[in-house]
Amino acid sequence: MNKLTIVLFLISGMAFSQSKLRSDIDQRAAEIEDKVIEWRRDIHQNPELGNQEFRTAKKVADHLRSLGIEVTEEVAVTGVVGVLQGGKPGPTVALRADMDALPVTERVDLPFKSTVTATYNGQETGVMHACGHDTHVAILMGVAEILAGMKDDLAGNVKFLFQPAEEGINEPGVTTWGAKQMVEEGVMEDVDAVFGLHIGSQMEVGKIGYRSGPALAGVDELEITVHGTQAHGASPWSGVDPIVTSAQIINGFQTIIARNVNITEAPAIVTVGAIHGGIRHNIIPEKVDMIGTIRTFGDEQQALVHKRITEIATHIAESAGAKADVRIKKMYPSTINDPELTEMMGPTILAAAGDGNVLTNPLITGAEDFSFYQREKPGLFISLGGMKKGGDPTKTPSHHTPDFYIDESGFILGLRVMSYFVVDYMGMN
Ligand SMILES: [Zn+2]
Ligand SMILES: [Zn+2]
Repeated sequence: MNKLTIVLFLISGMAFSQSKLRSDIDQRAAEIEDKVIEWRRDIHQNPELGNQEFRTAKKVADHLRSLGIEVTEEVAVTGVVGVLQGGKPGPTVALRADMDALPVTERVDLPFKSTVTATYNGQETGVMHACGHDTHVAILMGVAEILAGMKDDLAGNVKFLFQPAEEGINEPGVTTWGAKQMVEEGVMEDVDAVFGLHIGSQMEVGKIGYRSGPALAGVDELEITVHGTQAHGASPWSGVDPIVTSAQIINGFQTIIARNVNITEAPAIVTVGAIHGGIRHNIIPEKVDMIGTIRTFGDEQQALVHKRITEIATHIAESAGAKADVRIKKMYPSTINDPELTEMMGPTILAAAGDGNVLTNPLITGAEDFSFYQREKPGLFISLGGMKKGGDPTKTPSHHTPDFYIDESGFILGLRVMSYFVVDYMGMN
């Protein structure tokens, strides 16, 4: 054989073995679909809040062990990490699912409806998988079963990351996220690429959405205290009014998006959500407190917005003879899909979903702690359709609401695409 023939032979050989792996996945996914739905119903009926996912974690760990997967428990409090060794050498591909539910009382009439209650921030509340993390757990358990059944054909290892507390623990004295904690405990060190999905209640089943680069916003919390000098409301000249100063600061913030952010690249948001100051109609108070949220796409934009907030607040205050203390607490970084990995996996997504079923996601101003993994290694995060076929997204309840509902017929595509990611990535590396 000459060189060209050898290359063609190798390419067609690879294409053949890839398509055989994919059809093997398709068959195995169809076989376990019902089981995945059953797991999901069980998890849905037994939701647990962040860092309390004891029952869910045990179910996951028992299942992974039954497949011969090496399991580590109590990672990042309640997280479970499984490692499946492939039959051939190759990269380590991580797949992630989040396990936590939310303090929401379920209103959907289902035979497996949640009636679980808990105390959250001192309040009695229902607990519900109102973000669909139950579906992520069940799908990844299914993917583990599919890939464990094909382990001799895998050229590399698969690391299953079942993490707690995606929605975050934000209590007095504690602010953290499951993914952040998992990363701090070293789960990403031996990983080459990481994949994750989020079910969407307003995207039709059978569809996959994604976008390259910044995809979901980074979130930061803003706190400002404006210190003035208290005075009688009838003689404002004898003090420094922090209320008027705060009003000017809030107006000043409006120019950050309008004048400083390059909106042709990505939008950003600065919202002041609460403002407190004063006690009586004729007293100019000593101080005003404001809190708000900042949404940005990418580190550069985040740095710019933070800088402008601080400059505007402190300098406006200064010009009034007041003083502004600006505190910005970094929460979730922006979810950034690695452009090279995303491009590489485009054909894989298309192969899984089929023509006409792949969408370009709009920028999402919500956030995801999957971003913490992506800061360590190249990662790709996709949306998976979970709305009934033919449903109207504008009339379908959104995530985090008591009427949130997911159509289970969307799971099989999740099983297939996550498994495809593994074999295709291994085939290309
Ligand atoms: Zn959520
Ligand atoms: Zn979520």
